[in-house]
Amino acid sequence: MPAFHTIDDLGDLTGKTALVRVDFNVPMEGGRITDDTRLRVALPTIRDLCAKGAKVALLAHFDRPKGKRAPTMSLAPVAGPLSELLGAHVAFADDCVGEAAKSTIAALGPGQVVLLENVRFHPGEEENDSQFAAALAQEGDLYVNDAFSAAHRAHASTEGLAHLLPAYAGRSMQRELVALDLALGAPKRPVVGIVGGSKVSTKLDLLQNLVAKLDTLAIGGGMANTFLYAMGHPVGESLCEKDLADTARDIIAEAGRKSCEILLPIDVVCADALGPGVETATRDIGDVRPSDKIFDAGSKSAARLNAAIDLAHTVIWNGPLGVFEIPPFDAATVSVARHTAERVKSAGLIAVAGGGDTVAALHAAGVADDFSFVSTAGGAFLEWMEGKALPGVEALRPR
Ligand code: ADP
Ligand code: MG
Repeated sequence: MPAFHTIDDLGDLTGKTALVRVDFNVPMEGGRITDDTRLRVALPTIRDLCAKGAKVALLAHFDRPKGKRAPTMSLAPVAGPLSELLGAHVAFADDCVGEAAKSTIAALGPGQVVLLENVRFHPGEEENDSQFAAALAQEGDLYVNDAFSAAHRAHASTEGLAHLLPAYAGRSMQRELVALDLALGAPKRPVVGIVGGSKVSTKLDLLQNLVAKLDTLAIGGGMANTFLYAMGHPVGESLCEKDLADTARDIIAEAGRKSCEILLPIDVVCADALGPGVETATRDIGDVRPSDKIFDAGSKSAARLNAAIDLAHTVIWNGPLGVFEIPPFDAATVSVARHTAERVKSAGLIAVAGGGDTVAALHAAGVADDFSFVSTAGGAFLEWMEGKALPGVEALRPR
């Protein structure tokens, strides 16, 4: 992994306060958390810092209060469930700076935890205002960032603070950076990328970055239709961004220059409309009819991609290969997901995946836990796949 200071570099922290940026932007309904994954993800960091004797003050955002106090966007309902998961009381301070924060932190003993109120209640957070960052820095002695999923934003608690206090990567951040480095930073070759999803337009930067780094790039999902169209194949009534045909051809040409093999579907599953139980037809590329809509890659395409994965040491995946939400159009995604998971187990393949729908598809295929790493970071994962520097990660680099 790129050199970052981690919790392993810290000794005894008795008498010190660690300001820890976490991602507690959990799904909530009527004040109840419906999925506590993000709380669980933060536990190793909290536990490790507590074990070193630190007072742990958690910084997090919730929703988009736009710099104002909004009672419905309070983090208060998170403290109880977090206490339960941690098995220790978590105090709550109803402001992340000033007197409320100070007095609550002062009242903690070594190894105790406080959750500070939503940082986005202050406009200085999203503005990365230096005075607000300084007010946060006053509360602690060191800064630990464990929120990779917020690292694509240069906010006071994700970026500014890292310049004001000794800065460390938390356990979840560390895991994510190690996995991403294994997948694209310094991967074991050959590396096969799989990119699907609905539109080329949302993933242009990602495709351009990947062709420069991968040995093979398989394109699927709706965006494959645009590439097929650009190569002169009929796509019927499928989702297709015809105005991006030139761009698609440019990406293919660039891939050729960079010796990245592009795999487009060789057969596709078509229907007249989307819906469970609709009549489907699998057609070779070239045979798609004017009334067809392409909703999945065909079994020959999936088998060819699986054969490419057999030769790979590393797989990086974003975007489902078809409309996986509606069977049978999940078939190619499920086939490749299961095959990839099997190669992780039997051949030591490194397989890293990310993206909201991709993660859902891997769960639906029952293999999310069998991948080497599945990033739940959403936007930050995509920006990283685009080759962009993430401000929250850059700020952690030792100076
Ligand atoms: P992620 O969230 O993992 O980054 P995307 O949001 O880019 O993935 O893409 C997922 C969406 O792409 C899904 O809703 C899926 O139904 C859609 N999709 C996949 N293949 C097709 C297709 N052939 N036609 C239309 N939509 C598709
Ligand atoms: Mg999506």
